Amino acid sequence: MDEPAHTDVIVIGMGPGGEYAAGTLAQAGLHVTGVEQRLVGGECPYYGCVPSKMMIRAGNLLAEGGRIPGMAGTADIHPDWAPVATRIRDEATDNWNDQAAADRFTGQGGHLVRGHGTITGPAEVTVDGRTFRARRGIVINSGTDPAVPPIEGLAATPYWTNREILRVEQVPDSLIVLGGGAIGAELAQVFARFGTAVTVVEAAPRLVTFEEPEASELIERIFAADGIKVYTDAPAQRVSHDGSQFTVHLGSSTLTAERLLVATGRKTDLAALGVAAIGLDPAARTIPTDGRMRAADGVWAIGDITGHGAFTHMSMYQAGIVVRDILGQEGEAADYRAVPRVTFTDPEIGSVGLTEAQARAAGLRVRTGLTQVPASARGWIHKAGNDGFIKVVADADRSVLVGATSAGPYGGEVLSALQVAVRAEVPLATLRNMPYAYPTFYRAIEAALTDLASS
Ligand SMILES: Cc1cc2nc3c(=O)[nH]c(=O)nc-3n(C[C@H](O)[C@H](O)[C@H](O)COP(=O)(O)OP(=O)(O)OC[C@H]3O[C@@H](n4cnc5c(N)ncnc54)[C@H](O)[C@@H]3O)c2cc1C
Repeated sequence: MDEPAHTDVIVIGMGPGGEYAAGTLAQAGLHVTGVEQRLVGGECPYYGCVPSKMMIRAGNLLAEGGRIPGMAGTADIHPDWAPVATRIRDEATDNWNDQAAADRFTGQGGHLVRGHGTITGPAEVTVDGRTFRARRGIVINSGTDPAVPPIEGLAATPYWTNREILRVEQVPDSLIVLGGGAIGAELAQVFARFGTAVTVVEAAPRLVTFEEPEASELIERIFAADGIKVYTDAPAQRVSHDGSQFTVHLGSSTLTAERLLVATGRKTDLAALGVAAIGLDPAARTIPTDGRMRAADGVWAIGDITGHGAFTHMSMYQAGIVVRDILGQEGEAADYRAVPRVTFTDPEIGSVGLTEAQARAAGLRVRTGLTQVPASARGWIHKAGNDGFIKVVADADRSVLVGATSAGPYGGEVLSALQVAVRAEVPLATLRNMPYAYPTFYRAIEAALTDLASS
C-alpha cells in the first residue's frame, strides 16, 4: 500500500467520527491518512452501541414475551443466549474483524496505517517509527477506554469491561456490575433477563446519576421488578477473586458473584497521544475545542475526547463540522444546547439539554412539568410495560424549554420532538397550541406542558 510521508490530513483514531471525516475528506479528493491501533470504526460497532443494543433487543423480546399473560394468552419462554452471541459475532462485528470497514475507507481513496499514532510535532504524527506530515492538519478522534477505578485488589482480578462482556458466549450465573450509569444499567438489565442473578453497585446516591431523580427512581423500581439487586451510596472498598468467584466488599455488606463487570466510566490518555508536542496539556482529560472543533493551529478534535458527551452521534456531528472547516465550506458552529442522550433500558430514558438541577444551577428561573406515561391514553392502552414519565424543564423568563426527559416505551424516539423544541427554542405557547396525535406516546408531552403551565 502507498503510504507517503506527506499527506493532506492525518486522522488519529478511526472511531465513528474519524472514520466518517477521513472517508469524506478522501472522497473530496484530499490525501488522507487514517491511523488506527485497534479496529476501524472504534468502540461503537465492536464493543459499544451496536452489540449492546443487539443484546438489549433480545432482552426486551424476552420481557415482552413475559407480558403476554393477561393480555394476549400464554407464552412459554426459554431464554437462549446462543443466537445473541452469534448475531453479534457474525452480523455486527464480523468476529471483531474490521476488514470491511478498512476496505470501505481505502475504497474511498483513504490510506490506512495500522498502529499507535503519536503526535511528534506540529502537523507531524509518528506511527511505530514511521513519520507522516500533514499539509492541512491533524484530526484527533482517539476516543476513550474503559476506566478501572483504583479499588484495592481489583486490578489483580479477571474483571470484565465492556470489551469482554460484549463478547460473551454464555451468560454467567451471577454478575456484579460496578457502576450504575447508562452502560452498567443497560447491561445489568440484559443479563438479568437472560437469567443471571445481577447486583448493581453504585457509589453515588442513585442510579443514572446524571439524569433527573425521577429517572433514577423509575430505573430502581424497574430493576427491583427484574430481580436486580441495587446498592447505591455504596462505594466498593475491596475486590478479590478466588479462582472461581469474585468478592466485592462494600462498607457494610459483602457480595459474591461469578463475574464482575466494571462500568465506572471512561478514560483518556492525552500524554500517550503526544499532545504536548502541539502545546496542549497532556495531563488534561479532554481536549478543548472552539466551535469549528479546532484545538490548536491545524489541529481538530472530535468525539469522546472533546468532553461534550461520549456518544456516537456527538462524534459524527463534530466530524461533519470538521469536514466543512477543512474543505472551507460554510456551516454553523458546534452547538451543545440540545445534546440528546438515551439510556436504552426498558423503559428507555431519553433526555436532552439541562436537567432541572442543572437549569437551577445555571441561575435560570425554572419551571417544570411532569406527567406519567401510564396516565396517558397510549400508556393506559399499552398496559404491561408502560412505565415512564415525561418531564419538561423551562426557562420561565424566555418561555422556552431548556431540557426534557422522556422515559417510557420508545422514550428515545419520543425524545425527538423534545429535542427540536429545546434546540429551536420553540415558544411554550407554540408547543401548547398544536394537536398531538392521539393516541401516541409523544402525546404525553402535551400533558407535561399542561402541568408546567399550572406549576
Ligand atoms: C457499552 C457501550 C455502549 C454504548 N452505547 C452507545 C449508544 O447506544 N449510543 C451512543 O451514542 N454511544 C454509545 N456508546 C459510546 C460510543 O461508543 C462512543 O461515544 C463512540 O464510539 C464515539 O467515540 P469516539 O468517536 O470518540 O471514538 P472511539 O469509538 O472511542 O474510537 C477511537 C479509536 O481511536 C483509536 N485510537 C486511540 N488512540 C489512538 C492512537 N494514538 N493511534 C491510533 N489509534 C488510536 C482507538 O483504537 C479507537 O478505535 C457506548 C459505549 C459503550 C462502551
